[in-house]
Amino acid sequence: LSRSATLWELIARRAALTPDTTVLIEAAQHPADDRRLTFGELRDRSERAAAGLYAMGVRPGTVVAWQLPTRIETVLLSAALARIGAVQSPVIPFYRDREVGFALRESKAEFFAVPGVWRGFDHPAMAERLGARGVFEAYSALPDGDPSVLPPPPASGTDVRWIYWTSGTTSDPKGVLHTDRSLIAGGSCLAHALHLTPADVGSMAFPFAHIAGPDYTVMLLLYGFPAVLFEKFAMPDALDGYRRHGVTVAGGSTAFYSMFLAEQRKDPATKLVPTLRLLAGGGAPKPPEIYHAVVREMGCQLTHGYGMTEVPMITMGSPDDTAEHLATTEGRPPAGMSIRITGPDGGALPAGTDGEVRLRGEAVCQGYLNRDQAPGAPEVFDAEGYLITGDLGHLTEDGYLVLTGRSKDVIIRKGENISAKEIEDLLHELPGVADVAVIGLPDAERGERVCAVVERPAGSAAPPTLAEVTAYLRGAGLATHKLPERLEVVDALPRNEALRKVLKYRLRERFA
Ligand code: ATP
Ligand code: MG
Repeated sequence: LSRSATLWELIARRAALTPDTTVLIEAAQHPADDRRLTFGELRDRSERAAAGLYAMGVRPGTVVAWQLPTRIETVLLSAALARIGAVQSPVIPFYRDREVGFALRESKAEFFAVPGVWRGFDHPAMAERLGARGVFEAYSALPDGDPSVLPPPPASGTDVRWIYWTSGTTSDPKGVLHTDRSLIAGGSCLAHALHLTPADVGSMAFPFAHIAGPDYTVMLLLYGFPAVLFEKFAMPDALDGYRRHGVTVAGGSTAFYSMFLAEQRKDPATKLVPTLRLLAGGGAPKPPEIYHAVVREMGCQLTHGYGMTEVPMITMGSPDDTAEHLATTEGRPPAGMSIRITGPDGGALPAGTDGEVRLRGEAVCQGYLNRDQAPGAPEVFDAEGYLITGDLGHLTEDGYLVLTGRSKDVIIRKGENISAKEIEDLLHELPGVADVAVIGLPDAERGERVCAVVERPAGSAAPPTLAEVTAYLRGAGLATHKLPERLEVVDALPRNEALRKVLKYRLRERFA
């Protein structure tokens, strides 16, 4: 691939190569309502939509935000904006006034595409409340026009054309600036790591508005295989879609592995989705226990990776890796991705030593929206151009990345650093723990103290007591200063909508 390749170029090339091959299958609740799109239709219909957008005033560089569900029209609209060379800003469908208002204000979007009333929520009314300009509906009908009026597609893949929003796990979301090139780099490395072929059938169990959306699209364009989309992803209904369309690779985040496992356990003897060969995901910590359970009980492989809105693909486990590597690491970086582990002074640390993760490579974003203007804003890139991630971990001697937590997720008790993740991984194996988050709570004497927040299991199983938790952790060899001094049991941990990530800052607010 040329370094100047654009997303539109990939679409046009693939459409010329295999115009009649299916690229998207939208799985509906009733099989008769399933819809399909071919690569040829992707090119032709998005070009017509581009002409319609052009007639509305969308030009190369115009900022267009969209908040749309995961369905064929959304992919077409996104492709149409790529055809024009507009700057698009995808917003997760479940976000409401606060997050959407933030995204519209920060990106100064001139246009805002919404689904109308979707799942009972009136998006146009919300847009009006927020004073959004250029609001248009793009659910079942897209703008339409004659492609002959369009200017040539963008010539370069290195201009900023995407503003993605981080999950806001640690603070307000940040607008992340991407180019076609960084997204293509992420997608092509991912496809390579997963050993995909044209015979695969993929699936997206995450919002297309997430950074993994273009990643996935690039994989489809490079390898020419289809993916199944779900506008309403819910288990167990979604399983019918997976079975009906013979999905071989299921993409999602950690929460999805647990959802698949829970379904499998309802009927352990029958393979849940007979064609499924690989669960592949990332974006959140994965307890080693989940890896072993998936392989043992579901009869498929699980590869997990490390990515972030700023860098869609950093490392990924590969089907070639050993079980040990797949269970306990985030895999290796692809060629061209340079990982540096740094100490407090920013200097590089050797293999095996924990430090902060810094990244340089083609898939790395250009920086944050409006960041330079913010006075006193923390550093984004270091002097050598490495992105400072705020994640902690080390590289093994053989080049695999192990993440140990986030710099904001280290609990400091009496001056000792305690990794929340280490304790969480152990507690995941304790009966009566559906999920767990370990947080630090302010403590006048010790700085912070360790609190474990346990999600109550479904059914009749009782959650453990604090005495049981500490006895178990002691038995597992955990140092005394790391033992939780407080236990809270909740019905459900607070999570974000997009990836079901646990929002620890909410827990800290609640229990401080
Ligand atoms: P914000 O930056 O707004 O606080 P966020 O960092 O959660 O939110 P995302 O870009 O969605 O927003 O998530 C990226 C982060 O998710 C990474 O920096 C890392 O902390 C975490 N993460 C991603 N993949 C993994 C993984 N495989 N294991 C552990 N953590 C992961
Ligand atoms: Mg982040």
